[in-house]
Amino acid sequence: MIFQPCDCFHCRRGAQQVIFPILLDNTVEYWLDIPKNASTSIKVKFDLDGKPSVPKEYYSMFAASGIKPYAVYRDPMVRFASLLQHYLTRSGPYGRYNRGEKFFWNHMNLKIEELSIEERMEIMFDNLTKLNGFYYVHHWFPQTYWLPKEFEEYKWVAMEDVQKVFDIGNTNPGSGKITTDMLTKRMKDFVAIEYRDDYEYFTSKGLL
Ligand SMILES: [Zn+2]
Repeated sequence: MIFQPCDCFHCRRGAQQVIFPILLDNTVEYWLDIPKNASTSIKVKFDLDGKPSVPKEYYSMFAASGIKPYAVYRDPMVRFASLLQHYLTRSGPYGRYNRGEKFFWNHMNLKIEELSIEERMEIMFDNLTKLNGFYYVHHWFPQTYWLPKEFEEYKWVAMEDVQKVFDIGNTNPGSGKITTDMLTKRMKDFVAIEYRDDYEYFTSKGLL
């Protein structure tokens, strides 16, 4: 992984590979939090912010007793375009445009609003290794990074089915300014390599 380890507030307090109990159709289910995969919408829907997650010491016991957490997956290329959008455009209350602005100013001495979308994408792409915990670099980690090793099986939900499965409205709409057709060959090649584990894993599960 080219990305730095994340030492943001959330990661420092152990919020990586976390599973929350959720009540779905009056049944207790579990949900694995994978950033950029409808994470905020699901947290809002089930009021999970600040709520305790399942202690990691229980994961082995849960897995052995047949519990399969819900988890959301998406095409790595679409997710990468969404990440760029998240940082490079104004995109709703939970976007990271403010961090994108700071990233460009702190590391490149550039004002992001003076750049075209294409220029923003190129510059961001060329400086991904500079992302650290201040910019929540954990968002960029591959989806498979977030899978606790204790579980072998999940109830996988495609991003398109999130609203139906979890009965939620679109609480964190992206504006769709950056789409996969805007990614250059260089970017697409990077995604194919950097997120290879995701492609292999989801393909092996018949999901992609
Ligand atoms: Zn983090």
